[in-house]
Formats: sequence, C-alpha cells, structure tokens
Amino acid sequence: MPSLVLKPDRSKSLERRHPWIFASAISEINGSIEPGETVEVYDNMGKFLAKGAYSHHSQIRVRVWTWNQREVIDREFFRKRLQNASSSRMSYITPSGTNAVRLVHGESDRLPGLIVDRYDNFLVVQYLSCGPDHWREILADLLVELTGVQNIYERSDVDVRTLEGLPPRVGVLRGVEPPIKSQICENGLIYWVDIQHGHKTGFYLDQRNNRACLRELSRGKEVLDCFCYSGGFTISALAGGATSVLAVDSSADALALAQANVSLNSFDEDRVVWLEGDVFQVLREFRDRGRCFDLIVLDPPKFAPTVSQAERAARAYKDINLLAIKLLRPGGLLFTFSCSGGITAELFQKIVAGAALDAGKEAQIIGYLQQSPDHPVALNFPEGAYLKGLIVKVE
Ligand code: SAH
Repeated sequence: MPSLVLKPDRSKSLERRHPWIFASAISEINGSIEPGETVEVYDNMGKFLAKGAYSHHSQIRVRVWTWNQREVIDREFFRKRLQNASSSRMSYITPSGTNAVRLVHGESDRLPGLIVDRYDNFLVVQYLSCGPDHWREILADLLVELTGVQNIYERSDVDVRTLEGLPPRVGVLRGVEPPIKSQICENGLIYWVDIQHGHKTGFYLDQRNNRACLRELSRGKEVLDCFCYSGGFTISALAGGATSVLAVDSSADALALAQANVSLNSFDEDRVVWLEGDVFQVLREFRDRGRCFDLIVLDPPKFAPTVSQAERAARAYKDINLLAIKLLRPGGLLFTFSCSGGITAELFQKIVAGAALDAGKEAQIIGYLQQSPDHPVALNFPEGAYLKGLIVKVE
C-alpha cells in the first residue's frame, strides 16, 4: 500500500483524531497513488498514525478512514461504517410522521466526503471527495443492501468537488429516475421535493427540529419567512396556527414549490402572501413603510463558506438581523440562522447582539438552535457544526 510521512511536529491534529491531513504537513510520499486510493500515514519517527483516502488536488490531501492499523479498508469496512451510521437514524423514521432523514453525514459518521439522504423510497448520495468517489459502486451496492431502498440518485453537483479535481456528476446510480416531484413526510407535514434539481439533495433536512420548534411558537402570530425556499418554515408556521405568513425568496421556482406545498397540506392559501424579491431590499422597504411582524425567520444561504469570507459575511448577517429586529413588534420573536462554515456560533451571537444594539432594542436569547440530530457533529470534527441559530425575543 502506498504510504506517506508527515513533517516533524505536524502529527498533533491527527493524534487528536482530526480526520484531515493538509498538503503542507506531508514531507514524503512513497509509491504511486490513484485518486481516492487508501494510503498509510506515518509520523517522522516511523510511527503509524492512520489510513485514509488520498486526493492529489485538494489542500486536504488525505481524509482519514481509520486510526487502526489492523483495519482493512474494503467492502466489509464500508458495510460496518454504513450500517453503524444508518441504523442509528432509523429511530427518526416513523410510519406516519417522518420519512426523510440524513443517513450518512460525512466526517461526523467517520465516512469523510460521503453524504446520504433518504427521501422515502429514494436515496440521494453526494460523493464530495476522492475517497468515496473511488468506492462509488461498492458504496451504492451496500446502501441498497443495508437499507432495502432500491433507488439511488447521485447529486455530486457541488463546488467542493472542483477542489478535488472531480467533475460534477448527477444521475441514476441504482433503480429508477426520481419523479419531477417526490412527496416526503416530516413531523406529520407533507412536502414536495425536487430530488433532481432542488437545493442540496432536495430539501433542508437539517432544519427539521427547528421547524418543529417554530411550529410550537407560531399560534396567532403574523409571520415573515425570509429565504423561504420550498416553504419549510412557512408550512410549519401555518401548522402551528400562525394567522398569516409572508414568505420571501428570490427564486420563482422555490416559491412555486412552496406554494404547491401549502396546497398539498390543505392550508388556506389566503393565509400566505408570496413575494419574489431580494430579502435585503424587501426588509428595507418594509422598514420604510413601517410594516411590523410578530415572528421573523432569517434562514439565508451560506454567506461565508470559509473563514476568509467571514468579514464580508458578518456585515450581511448584521444588515438583515438589524432590519428584522426593527420590524418586530414588542415581544416579537426572531428565528435567525447561519449555515456558514466560516462563522462560529460565538461570532454569530456577537453579530446578532450588535444588530440589536444598533436597532436600539433590548433582546434576549430564548433558544439556541442547531442542525437536527441526523446531522451529528463528531467531537473530533468541530467543523461539522455548521448550522447555528438563535431564537431572540425582542422587548
Ligand atoms: N428556509 C429554507 C431554506 C433556505 S435556503 C428551508 O427551511 O427549507 C436559502 C434560500 O434563499 C434559497 O431558496 C434561495 O433562493 C434564497 N435566496 C438567496 N439569496 C436571496 C436573497 N438575496 N433574497 C431572497 N432570497 C434569497
């Protein structure tokens, strides 16, 4: 097996079991390596550290499969890892309540670069890096075998693959092509999901528990759902008894899907107003017109995928949070999120605090929100905690 040696003093993070080895930490490579092939990693004194998947192009040169020298990386290895990850998710699936869950969450499930989401009788996979890409057929076979789901669709159309020197890849891996719209159930509510073209693998599964939380707090409220996408929070607010929801998104396709989701659940369509527009502008117009709401959701796209974009992103988060806080009636609630890897939970809280200060409002945090538990965070991989949210009550 090919192997590599780390520079002196560059093995600390591996010893703490962080699964990434950066190109700058490597001093020596022995043998020729295919993309995604397994390599053994040693420190400069010749001590074994790990086995992982090699990537020629990415700055993350190796993603660790195991710290155990005796563990062989083969079909059986992946069977155990997939079994371990997916079986713990089965408790989230209930016959009438929820049939859409994340089965495999990459590094945090000790399967770096692999995402598997289940939407009822379809699995959607993303091979984000060379490792899983190398094992693609075996992983697909094992997923069918372990879950009993016959249909797998690949949505490896993500930017991070470019860093790995991998082209985007989309299409049927096993079974049949997903319909234009598939129906899923979440906490007793139903949604249309576009597996082939929707965001991520089709739906923001990570917000499941936060949608349930919002539902509990929506009764009698006038709600503004910013960046509504296919209406996850809008539907939850309606289910929770919101008197009205104004849902804003810049994408007409997203709004059409959200609208279809309202009728799918047989909610009175008169309770919702759809607005195609830029949230930054819409919030300003509402401020200028003196519009007010009881509950506002801010669930924007990733403004800062990496730390280098954090400063500009911080300004954007502050801007929308400040405007939203101004639009809230006394006692109003703000559900505010950041899914940016480059913004930590502490920084996000500071940004929201700064926004309240500049808005001239006293405010309290009444809830800390995070990604739902089918998107776990391995303790040795804090980067996995990408979704942070706050429920802020404005005085
Ligand atoms: N809250 C949603 C997920 C939001 S994803 C859910 O729970 O499912 C982010 C959404 O923001 C996308 O639908 C995208 O179309 C929209 N978007 C991105 N930039 C925007 C902008 N400046 N103004 C309005 N919508 C925007």
